[in-house]
Amino acid sequence: ASGGSREYKVVMLGAGGVGKSEWHFLVGIQHSPGHSGTHCGFAMTMQFISHQFPDYHDPTIEDAYKTQVRIDNEPAYLDILDTAGQAEFTAMREQYMRGGEGFIICYSVTDRQSFQEAAKFKELIFQVRHTYEIPLVLVGNKIDLEQFRQVSTEEGLSLAREYNCAFFETSAALRFCIDDAFHGLVREIRKKESMP
Ligand code: GDP
Ligand code: MG
Repeated sequence: ASGGSREYKVVMLGAGGVGKSEWHFLVGIQHSPGHSGTHCGFAMTMQFISHQFPDYHDPTIEDAYKTQVRIDNEPAYLDILDTAGQAEFTAMREQYMRGGEGFIICYSVTDRQSFQEAAKFKELIFQVRHTYEIPLVLVGNKIDLEQFRQVSTEEGLSLAREYNCAFFETSAALRFCIDDAFHGLVREIRKKESMP
């Protein structure tokens, strides 16, 4: 059986400032006890930690956190690595690209350069994994800032087609579509596993 204690190692990639750490916080909040809907469980320490460290959004911090969700009626323990830093190839990046089962590639729709960086990650992953068959989700965040948009939905879709992956436009500020992106990635990982 595939269910039960399955843990999914998810890595969040993307330029600094696109909102990766903001998500981190939201996932904890959204899965808090009492939250109705399909989610259960909660990494209770997350909210705690976020109150302990006022520099939570330090852009240089790499952080891992865990949460439990229920996706398509099966429990999933997400072990999420929130990465930081630039796009150059480093030993640390190689290490987490080796360990990730799935990747959430994030850019901000208000930052064209972050989109250009997002376009580089598949190749960087390939350099480490030597395959393109890695579960991915592409995310354009900050769609609440429509008036500052620099990257169109069509451009995001087109990159997702190139990546052969799902695409979500999200807003961490509005808590819009955050879960969908995580769920989409877990579905991709499961789909890959069920293939012969
Ligand atoms: P990271 O470097 O990718 O971890 O980015 P952060 O999570 O630290 O976010 C960078 C800044 O963008 C912070 O000030 C966040 O509050 C802000 N931010 C993140 N997501 C959103 C969003 O969806 N909308 C808006 N308006 N701001 C956001
Ligand atoms: Mg961060």
